Amino acid sequence: MSRPPSMQPQMCGPWELKERLGTGGFGNVTLWQNKESATQIAIKQCRQELSAKNKGRWSLEIQIMKRLNHMNVVAARDVPEELQKLATNDLPLLAMEYCQGGDLRKYLNLLENCCGMREAAVLTLIQDISSALTYLHGMRIIHRDLKPENIVLQQGEKRLVHKIIDLGYAKELDQSSLCTSFVGTLQYLAPELLEQQKYTVAVDYWSFGTLVFECITGFRPFLPTWQPVQWHNKLLQKQVDDIVVYEDLTGEVRFSKHLPNPHNLNKLLAGELESWLQMMLRWSPKERGKDLRKRTSCFCFDELSRILNLKLVHVLNMTSAEIFTYSVQPQEDVASLQERIAQDARIPPANQELLLEAGLALEPHNSVMQCAIDYNEPLVFLFDRSCYSYEPQFTPRVLPENIRFVQNELKRLLPYSSQRRTWGQAWHTIRALKEDWQRLQQGQKVAIMSLLRHNGTLSKQKNEMVSMHQRLKATLEFFSTSLHIDIDKYQEQRATGIGTTHGRIKYYSTHTHQFTSHSAQKALWVMTS
Ligand code: ATP
Ligand code: MG
Repeated sequence: MSRPPSMQPQMCGPWELKERLGTGGFGNVTLWQNKESATQIAIKQCRQELSAKNKGRWSLEIQIMKRLNHMNVVAARDVPEELQKLATNDLPLLAMEYCQGGDLRKYLNLLENCCGMREAAVLTLIQDISSALTYLHGMRIIHRDLKPENIVLQQGEKRLVHKIIDLGYAKELDQSSLCTSFVGTLQYLAPELLEQQKYTVAVDYWSFGTLVFECITGFRPFLPTWQPVQWHNKLLQKQVDDIVVYEDLTGEVRFSKHLPNPHNLNKLLAGELESWLQMMLRWSPKERGKDLRKRTSCFCFDELSRILNLKLVHVLNMTSAEIFTYSVQPQEDVASLQERIAQDARIPPANQELLLEAGLALEPHNSVMQCAIDYNEPLVFLFDRSCYSYEPQFTPRVLPENIRFVQNELKRLLPYSSQRRTWGQAWHTIRALKEDWQRLQQGQKVAIMSLLRHNGTLSKQKNEMVSMHQRLKATLEFFSTSLHIDIDKYQEQRATGIGTTHGRIKYYSTHTHQFTSHSAQKALWVMTS
């Protein structure tokens, strides 16, 4: 028999029970810490009585876990001797590295992710999970139960790392377990698993697509609150490229091939991932994960790595407050980027002032890679040299569907889930407006910094000109004084009739040491010769 959680010992030798990490269909996961070495370890115990077949599978899965070695699959550890006694039902324990970031469901439930995760977080998740799935599929393992609860987060050196857990237990699914213990997580199961047909790795493509959709938008793509039978019947009407089926606020079911707004992706990336999702969320497993319509056959993981390797430049038009995103090539220069900007912003290249964060100006001959970043936020700020003094012409944001609806139907009472989503959209819109404003403010600062740079250069040039002017003035004064003296001497000599050359040479030989400028000396030589 498995022990109820309250009966769990708090200490096992040096190991102290720290926290209950989670409870799933089969397992109970707890965190233990060694008091001497401070080592932490997650222990998964079997939670319920299992059939003989399931017991075999449980042990087999632990063996599989021990064989795996990948950054994005949680690592199995040896079970410390003192903890062996936690084992129940004669079933071995699974010891794992502890991932302190909790599971992805917890992360998705944060208010700030109510309309989807941030772009950078979506991209690292995609990168990690595609890498883990490629590895598993290469090892001929199908996960079959990929969902946010089965992905845990760990803080790496530079960023959060996602790791897949709970490997392979879902292959035990039968019809009764589908309708009982798996209600609520059905949403990630591929149709062929629901229909109990033969399946391939394509079941993981469906779950991965569903998961990515949820991370981008904050909700699951296909009628998230519907019961399995109705859900299945409705979904059969889905067209090949439909990636979302939802009930609008009037209760009508809508199908769409497009990523719904709002989300946090830039337009270029949203377009790329929309096409990718169309490939991942196909009903037919044979068509899923590849695009046979394209001339060169295209495979979902190759396509993802192409998308993840795109070099993007984000340009904020300070006149309209729009952001344009461009995918650029390493050999491209700023001049070619300017041609593309000219088409979108309708500002001819000669009038475009492109400034980087510190107020540095981009010159047409610069390489465009100077401003291509790997999915971080920094921007290139675009100013129109021909209209600095004009009032900016900001394009108003298109408000999300639910907000437009409640603005028109002020008295309509919405069910709880719709209200929740509408409030989420309102919160997201306000945050987006705040961020628009912050970016524009940053653009103003950049413009000031650029002006300060210009000011610095101009002041330096002015000082140089002033000192040059003073030097020239002094030289000029010297010349006119010496000329006057010369004239006086000439007149004196003419009056007395003495030869002229000797007098001049004598005079200059006493004065040449005063000349500092080479050109002035040269000029003097010309005059005297
Ligand atoms: P399922 O119902 O999906 O089969 P399960 O009973 O098999 O679940 P797991 O999914 O392995 O159990 O774990 C349950 C929960 O425990 C996870 O959702 C996660 O929150 C937490 N958890 C599991 N392993 C770890 C770990 N290594 N580090 C941190 N938290 C973990
Ligand atoms: Mg689980």
